[in-house]
Amino acid sequence: MEAKLKILIVEDLQLDANLIKHEINRSGIQFIDQIVETQKDYIEAIQKFSPDIILSDYYLPTFDGMLALLIRKKISPNIPFILVTGTLNEEIAVEVMKAGANDYVIKEHITRIGTAIKTALEKVEIIRLKEESEEKLKILSLAVDQNPASIVITDIQGNIEYVNPKFTLLTGYSSNDVIGKNPRILKSGMTSIQEYKNLWDTITRGGEWRGEFQNLKKNGEFYFESAWISPITDESGAITHFLAVKEDITERKNSEKKIKTLSEAIEQSPTCIIITDANGKIEFVNSKFASFVQYSLDDVKGKYPLIFNVGHNCQESYKGMWDNLKSGNIWQGEFNNRKKDGTKFWEYVIISPLLENNVISNYILVSEDITEKKKMVDNLIVAKENAEESEERFHSLFENMIEGFAYCKMIFENGNPVDFIYIEVNNSFEALTGLKNVRGKKVTELIPGIRQSDPLIFQIYGRVALTGKPERFEMYVESLNDWYSVSVYSSKKEFFIAVFDVITERKNTEKALISSKEKAEESDRLKTAFLHNISHEIRTPLNAIIGFSSLLVNSNLPPQKRKEFLKIINVSNDQLLSVISGIISLSTLDTGQEKIQEKETDINEMLTNVYDQFLVNKTNPEVTFSYHQALSDKLAVIYTDPVKLMQILINLVGNALKFTKNGKVRFGYTLETNQLNFFVEDTGIGIPTEMHELIFERFRQVDNSATRKYGGTGLGLALSKGYVELLGSKIRLQSEIGKGSVFAFTIPYKPVIKTTRQNETQSRQLSIPVGKNILVVEDDITNFVLLSKLLTMLKLNVIRAENGEVAISICCGANQPDLVLMDIKMPIMDGIEATRRIKKLNPGLIVIAVTACANENDRIQILESGCDGYIVKPINQQVLLANLEKYLTQ
Ligand code: ADP
Repeated sequence: MEAKLKILIVEDLQLDANLIKHEINRSGIQFIDQIVETQKDYIEAIQKFSPDIILSDYYLPTFDGMLALLIRKKISPNIPFILVTGTLNEEIAVEVMKAGANDYVIKEHITRIGTAIKTALEKVEIIRLKEESEEKLKILSLAVDQNPASIVITDIQGNIEYVNPKFTLLTGYSSNDVIGKNPRILKSGMTSIQEYKNLWDTITRGGEWRGEFQNLKKNGEFYFESAWISPITDESGAITHFLAVKEDITERKNSEKKIKTLSEAIEQSPTCIIITDANGKIEFVNSKFASFVQYSLDDVKGKYPLIFNVGHNCQESYKGMWDNLKSGNIWQGEFNNRKKDGTKFWEYVIISPLLENNVISNYILVSEDITEKKKMVDNLIVAKENAEESEERFHSLFENMIEGFAYCKMIFENGNPVDFIYIEVNNSFEALTGLKNVRGKKVTELIPGIRQSDPLIFQIYGRVALTGKPERFEMYVESLNDWYSVSVYSSKKEFFIAVFDVITERKNTEKALISSKEKAEESDRLKTAFLHNISHEIRTPLNAIIGFSSLLVNSNLPPQKRKEFLKIINVSNDQLLSVISGIISLSTLDTGQEKIQEKETDINEMLTNVYDQFLVNKTNPEVTFSYHQALSDKLAVIYTDPVKLMQILINLVGNALKFTKNGKVRFGYTLETNQLNFFVEDTGIGIPTEMHELIFERFRQVDNSATRKYGGTGLGLALSKGYVELLGSKIRLQSEIGKGSVFAFTIPYKPVIKTTRQNETQSRQLSIPVGKNILVVEDDITNFVLLSKLLTMLKLNVIRAENGEVAISICCGANQPDLVLMDIKMPIMDGIEATRRIKKLNPGLIVIAVTACANENDRIQILESGCDGYIVKPINQQVLLANLEKYLTQ
């Protein structure tokens, strides 16, 4: 049953109210009513009765129809309001209609009330429906406007009629930019023509199209969108528009791309990757891992990674690992694992827990095969240990090596080496340089003047430090006052190593050697000069001897001439002898064989003899020749070596006379306390100062030229100097060119006090017994003839033996000799051996050696063999006589 219309009637007149109700009934409207006449009742009725329509009189006792309308407007504005009035008052009616009444009915025309009610209700319904649809449209429009999707509506040709703000936000195109245009303005060219064709085919057929586009924004940026496009149709089903609802999927696309890239990266990664679930069971292994451990994903899925384990990894480290991982931390460490084929390998693993809503969902294991690395590390450790050991060895080598070692850094200024710093030095460094605590110090701090004194060091060290080319050099380091041999190396730019040794001693030896070499060369030159001189010195007397000897053969030569020639021959003999004996004496001096043989010597007598000897030959009347004896004859007998002293005096006096053409030559001695000072002075040519030392060297002469004026061998002074030194003294020289010279030397005064001094000549008058048998053992016929002549002159019998063996047989034969004169150097058997044997067989037989070799050694050998005495060749007649007298008269 249809609900009855609720009608509120505002009417003070019951009659009018009934009339109204009657008319409503008549119009067929089913209704219930409430009649009110006061304002209060009216308000209450609106609220409680909730009328569907209000019919109100205008003139009421307590209020009026206008007020009733306003109250309704306020309380319930949607209830239709019809003014029912009896007075036709257009103005009031207009007023009330303006104020919002739906209609008015004049009471005279009350029959119209039914239609008025229906129209009013219809109008209200229409308004309500309109409002409702407006509200819906508003919501729809808001929904479209505020839609998070971008919405495009086009007409049937595809021209844009509407775009929502999201579209503008996404594409950058405003409504004005795109209205009337085709959505192809968004085309990027990335979607195929076929795709667009499908789209159009679908939607023009009335279907829905779903798909994705990659479009271009207004600013040229790409974006991805997923689109849902459908046609909009009218009531007849004809397509009027197309609606595109699109969603920006750029981010999703990018994430998808990223995910794709990441999964590709994981899959293609050169490192092994395992993903497990939260319990550690394998969910995924990448191909690298699968190929490396030779297990496929199917082999290992759902298993624990422990299946690879060799079992060496301790439980403790597993626990630590799990504790870490479960608390959401990353764990990294090494595992010793095994492949499917059993090959062991070491891997370095980083395990990271993956969180989903703060709960661990997975673990990701990224591992790297470090087997080779491990091996390398092991090798490196061994290498390091070896290096350390070798370092230690080298260090101890450096520390203990005799050479100095310094590792330094060169300091350059404008490319020039100006200083260096000692970084490391060894123990020997200090000993060899005298520098202490040098580490970390600059050389210029340690030796302030070194740059000035030894600039070359900086140049060499700097060069090696820059070029790296090793150098070796020897240098006198002024600031350290030593010679150094240095090897410099550089293993690093601007650094250098110096290994060095002090070679001062070697250098001195070298210097000495060089000077000896120079001396030897000089001596060689002198020897050449000597040979030249000596040949002259020997030739001159030899020529005289040969020449005059040949003249003597002439039997018609007058006796006076013969005597004269013989004298010349004698003098030449002496000259020759002196030259040769000089040479021999020098060589014995050289070999150290010349010894001092002190004996009683009458030096006054010696001086006289020397004087006499020279006076005989002195021919120059311009020169006064004299000698000086400081002691009386009694005190002039001393112990000295007379032979050497005599030789010295002869040499010096000989020179003085030789080099003095006028003035005087004087020689002698003075007594100075217990020294005898011998001197030889002359007023001759003198000797230049620079030659004062040199002339004492052998073969030295002031004038060494072949055309020199004065004869001589250059041996006299060398010999004299040697003899003076043997006598324990030094020869001195004072000389000035053109003024003359003084040679002097001292010997100890060791006098022999003699009570009687016999005249030697007298003592030697003692007769030698005649007719004695003398055995002369001599291989050289000339020597033998000379000797036998002397002996026969003394009326002695001469027997000859040519060698030692013959001598022995004679000595053992029936005719034993009274005395033997024994030569030493002989063929078959020498004199020493022969004497030894003779003395063994006949100890009483006197054997006197006659020898040319008269040095100390020979003398000892001769005496040791048993000889009773010896005579030096060439035989001095006096000496021979003295010996014969001595032994034959025993
Ligand atoms: P020699 O006299 O045989 O040449 P010496 O050794 O005796 O050899 O002397 C060496 C040199 O010394 C002489 O050649 C001479 O130049 C110089 N000399 C020696 N004595 C004298 C002197 N009294 N006056 C000047 N020069 C001398």
